[in-house]
Amino acid sequence: CGIVAYVGPKDAAPILLEGLQRLEYRGYDSAGVVVSNRGLKVRKVKGRVADLAKVVPVRFKGGLGIGHTRWATHGVPSDTNAHPHLSADERIAVVHNGIIENASDLRAKLEADGVVFASETDTEVLAHLIARGADENDTLEEAVRKALKSVVGTYGIAVIDAERPGEVVVARNGSPIVLGIGEKEMFAASDVAALVRYTRQVVHLEDGELAVLKADGFHTFASDARETAKEPLTVDWDA
Ligand code: GLU
Repeated sequence: CGIVAYVGPKDAAPILLEGLQRLEYRGYDSAGVVVSNRGLKVRKVKGRVADLAKVVPVRFKGGLGIGHTRWATHGVPSDTNAHPHLSADERIAVVHNGIIENASDLRAKLEADGVVFASETDTEVLAHLIARGADENDTLEEAVRKALKSVVGTYGIAVIDAERPGEVVVARNGSPIVLGIGEKEMFAASDVAALVRYTRQVVHLEDGELAVLKADGFHTFASDARETAKEPLTVDWDA
């Protein structure tokens, strides 16, 4: 339902929580965040963003993170089914808006290979598929691109890798993703409403596009992996 991502010099958690609060108007049943700080630290709950904020420690340090508000489509609303979802080795974390239509096929194949799932969601297959590419020493964007090739359905996603603490990869197909350009920091969200407090410079992804965000900027790519040139727009909006 709602996605927020941050990479930069500040702690990500307060920015993610604030952004998720701004997406509450869309409706949701659970919320979660993950930050990277010598390993991935996850907090997620069934309930409100305010309930999530209560279980996020004050010293939840880390300048890379992603957050989500979930509107359940596959699997009941619960703490376990809330996003982010992690790979079995807890290296990759994913948040996802939309529906993976071939999730049960992909899940059966992964389970046949010995992957143990933690949740009932369609989303979790993405974490395991991306982890495979990451293990094969692909860049994170290659790992994400490969995983998405086997997926049928709609998605806006944000992905982080514990072993690449300076970058977020986002991608969209049928579910919006907008990048926010800051001063030595980058944001992404499913809705510009989550970003306007921090920046007015935004870039909308097209279906099939993927972006790599680092504190000092971003690169966007078409589905054939060719880099695309995107001009930022200035949003004129009251925060
Ligand atoms: N299909 C996913 C789930 O049920 C994502 C739902 C959403 O867009 O929030 O977990």
